Amino acid sequence: MDYESIDYNRYRWNRMLLNVFWIILILTILLEFLYLITITEIPAFEFFTNFMLKPSALQLVVLLLTETALRVLKGKYQDYILILTSALLAVIIVEIHNSINYLLLALFLPVMVSIFYFHPKKLIFALCNTLMSLYGLYWSNTWMNDDITLVGLTTITVMFCVFSLIAWGILRRGRELMIYLKSSFESHQELLVKTIWMDKLTKTDALTDLYNHMTFHEYFEELIEQHEQNSLPLQLAIFDIDNFKQVNDMYGHRAGDAVLQQVSELIRKKTCANDFVARYGGEEFAILFTDKLKMEALKVVEQIRLDIAQAPHELQQGKTVTVSIGFAEYESGEGKEHFFNRADDALYKAKSTGKNKTVIAAEPFESHLA
Ligand code: GH3
Ligand code: MG
Ligand code: MG
Repeated sequence: MDYESIDYNRYRWNRMLLNVFWIILILTILLEFLYLITITEIPAFEFFTNFMLKPSALQLVVLLLTETALRVLKGKYQDYILILTSALLAVIIVEIHNSINYLLLALFLPVMVSIFYFHPKKLIFALCNTLMSLYGLYWSNTWMNDDITLVGLTTITVMFCVFSLIAWGILRRGRELMIYLKSSFESHQELLVKTIWMDKLTKTDALTDLYNHMTFHEYFEELIEQHEQNSLPLQLAIFDIDNFKQVNDMYGHRAGDAVLQQVSELIRKKTCANDFVARYGGEEFAILFTDKLKMEALKVVEQIRLDIAQAPHELQQGKTVTVSIGFAEYESGEGKEHFFNRADDALYKAKSTGKNKTVIAAEPFESHLA
């Protein structure tokens, strides 16, 4: 079984437990003091020495040793040391007040402490501490022999074992809850990953891994709205591979697909995070530039065109392909249809005037002159 997650925050919890042990020391001193000033018939000095000074000094030594151990030891040993400390504190308390039988209950302290660790081995260790303390005290103290019969001792043992069984039930329940939480956390994470994956699948094109047509239009609209609000620059370049049908016809569809992938890669290489690149259609690509001046964007577009024209394609015997490009910059108020048509018209012009070139669209409100 994996108890790793239970060890989480171990040091903080052990620190808290040790603080509680310090509080126990202070409480025992206070209670002794209460006895001293109220019901005890023992002379004050004798009482002070035997019931206050000695046990407190012993407890202090135990606690200081534990403080040191907690700093020196790492991992699970800290937990065992704290269980042992609780057993020693309980033994000191019971031993000093040997006239008070019910204080024997304090011997159960280690088991209570072990519950913090949700670990069966530590619970068994704690129960062993409790029972060994009980039998040790029983055989080394005559008062116990006198006051408690062997049947009584057996009863106490059974009682401690039954209580420990309940503690074990708490551990099992805690463990069950932990497994449940872990699995629901994992399935939640799985769902999240699936959602992200599905989101990517619906947004991108499987062949080129670029954004698809639908996503292009979503962003296109958003970017134009943004431009209208804060006048940020926005340029659109539409790419179309020249004579692509011939590539398919001469070298096959697979070679055509490889060309599309290689062209996409070349575009991706020359664009940055703020440029939105999409596969607009079959052998058409679109780039939206959002953070560039017109001339900067144009420079990138031209560079891509030149790179594509120089890149040989293995599946078509090292031959190259070219692209024609229509380029336009958005003018406030022109609207998305008009903007897109201007870039598309420029592409048409590039095609009809010899291909393998970039044509800048006519100014928005005089495009009919182009
Ligand atoms: P132009 O220079 O005028 O653009 O000529 P073109 O041959 O590139 O244009 P046309 O529109 O006649 O042909 C485009 C071809 O692109 C037709 C189609 O078979 C091919 N195509 C579209 N999508 C894919 C694809 O995913 N893979 C492959 N291999 N071919 C595709
Ligand atoms: Mg085309
Ligand atoms: Mg084409």
